[in-house]
Amino acid sequence: MKEVIAVSACLLGYNCKYDGKNNLNPNIVEYLKDKIVLPICPEEFGGLSTPRIPAEIQNDGRILNQKGQDVTCCFLRGQLVTLELMKQHHATKVILKDGSPSCGYSYVYDGSFTNTRLQGMGVTAKHLIQNGVTILDLH
Ligand code: SF4
Repeated sequence: MKEVIAVSACLLGYNCKYDGKNNLNPNIVEYLKDKIVLPICPEEFGGLSTPRIPAEIQNDGRILNQKGQDVTCCFLRGQLVTLELMKQHHATKVILKDGSPSCGYSYVYDGSFTNTRLQGMGVTAKHLIQNGVTILDLH
């Protein structure tokens, strides 16, 4: 049976980014050309609209958008839906968009909305790792 690889949908060219755009990465698309791909967007899965107000993880673990609204529950719902979908499709590997409060796996932003990076993981990336998923680093 061919392996299924979950991929942050914005890397594939889906316009699911907060600003309604994407993060198309041709190298990743090329890598995936003979593989079965499961596009995922935890923030849309969590019920957030596209476009949406950008959000960052705060020091206390809550996720606030730039208007100060608490959107933590949407992010938590998104991580659960993503893992469930991956289980249904027997996907044990994922390629994620780094830097996102959901998908980031080596860095996120520090919660101040000043474009300041912090070493760390987004909530979905963390949840997937805790549940045995392997993150493929192709960036
Ligand atoms: Fe891309 Fe992940 Fe953000 Fe969705 S939540 S737009 S897949 S980085």
